[in-house]
Amino acid sequence: DKDLFKKIVSHAKEYGFVYPSSEIYDGLQAVYDYGPYGAELKKNLKDIWWQSMTRLHANVVGLDAAIFMHPLTWKASGHVDSFNDPMIDNKDSKKRYRADTLIEDWAARLEAEGKPEKAQALVTEMNQLLEAENLTELRELIVREGISCPLSGTTNWTEVRQFNLMFSTEVGSVAEDASKIYLRPETAQGIFVNFLNVQKTARMKVPFGIAQIGKAFRNEIVARQFIFRMREFEQMEMQFFVRPGTEMDWYEQWRETRLRWHKALGIPAESLRIHPHEKLAHYANAALDIEFKFPFGFKEVEGIHSRTDFDLRSHQELSRKKQQYFDPELDENGKPYGNYIPYVVETSIGADRLFLMLLCSAYREETTGEGEEQKSRTYLKLHPALAPVKAAIFPLVKKDGLAEKAMAIYNELRHDFNLIYEEQQSIGKRYARQDQIGTPFCIAVDYDTMENDTVTIRYRDTMEQKRVPISALREEIGREVSA
Ligand code: ATP
Repeated sequence: DKDLFKKIVSHAKEYGFVYPSSEIYDGLQAVYDYGPYGAELKKNLKDIWWQSMTRLHANVVGLDAAIFMHPLTWKASGHVDSFNDPMIDNKDSKKRYRADTLIEDWAARLEAEGKPEKAQALVTEMNQLLEAENLTELRELIVREGISCPLSGTTNWTEVRQFNLMFSTEVGSVAEDASKIYLRPETAQGIFVNFLNVQKTARMKVPFGIAQIGKAFRNEIVARQFIFRMREFEQMEMQFFVRPGTEMDWYEQWRETRLRWHKALGIPAESLRIHPHEKLAHYANAALDIEFKFPFGFKEVEGIHSRTDFDLRSHQELSRKKQQYFDPELDENGKPYGNYIPYVVETSIGADRLFLMLLCSAYREETTGEGEEQKSRTYLKLHPALAPVKAAIFPLVKKDGLAEKAMAIYNELRHDFNLIYEEQQSIGKRYARQDQIGTPFCIAVDYDTMENDTVTIRYRDTMEQKRVPISALREEIGREVSA
């Protein structure tokens, strides 16, 4: 639903969640900034991920590695040689496209025209050519099908070329001394190169995991769908090191754990699905995506990959430093497992993409009542643990000491929760504003409060109001906002 997605994007801008980067200069494509409520929401979801990964799993510890890494890292990981997208340029519009996206869009068009078999055949042929890295025939397929440039409408195409997605820059000040380094395209490699450091210094025993949150950069050519695909984004990755041969059990276990986690954030089961990969990356022996039903269709939010010992083994080869673990435990024959390079199961999710999923899932337009009484409202049904603001405190009117009373409650509770104090405008407008940013509770101070120290608490989702003693507020809010 394109209209719905447009509404969500403009809601995000209008209510201080996400702005285009450097907007006064007309923005920078595929780069975004988070506003006051967006920054809070993003921080909350990162905190929840971090806590559920590290605190709730005794055998997972955290790491914060640098963005810049030794250039050989990306040689070992395979990114220098194969982190590519096949690109094609239209000679008339001079516009560059990802060849696969161009074909997929064409297939979607065929499908919309009532030719699903033709669309399917096209995608199948494309996948075969991509797998074989047959760029010549990939171009021929585009020409043969008459796939035209959406901009110029012509079929005047260049060759298909591989285009590396890594951003590079130089370290060192003098030209001759400078050497090329990359901005990391994934956080995972910071974990692999620190595997032994962490294992030894935190005294970890296999199986164990290392979790990390940090920025990653990819020179995505097809940058669209808002924060779904960005050039600068944040990843939350966890690499779980296991005894070789046990990786499939762990793969299944992490798939279930991660699926449960998404549901616990309030994502309905029917909006989530598992998509196993048919085509595996060079490092994987099993891989799946957890997909969410965005307004533009089911799309990946998280990847679970069984990466074998590919990464540690190639780092061992290139660095000539042993990446082995000594396992003192005994196998079924009473022999120690001894030295081996562990296998890895990884869970990898984009914080920004998760943010978008939560926004799409929370966005509600609602109409209640009839005729004169009819009212409509927009609100964000975010899990209270994620909501940027937990409660808003309003004095009904400013005079007669109500403002001071409300301010006292605000000052009392703001050590525990992110709160807003608001005294401007009608109370209805103040409620509406909090609905828009997803605040789960509004607390109103009225004349009764002055008499008996009770307030009304209004719930975002039901709009119900309840009278509670001021002394019960901390518990009332705290119960809901703890994840
Ligand atoms: P896609 O197929 O969508 O390009 P990918 O399979 O390349 O994604 P991974 O390399 O597995 O993605 O990255 C893991 C996660 O990082 C993804 O599930 C996604 O949530 C996030 N991610 C990857 N690329 C981007 C991006 N350009 N912008 C925002 N998030 C991203």
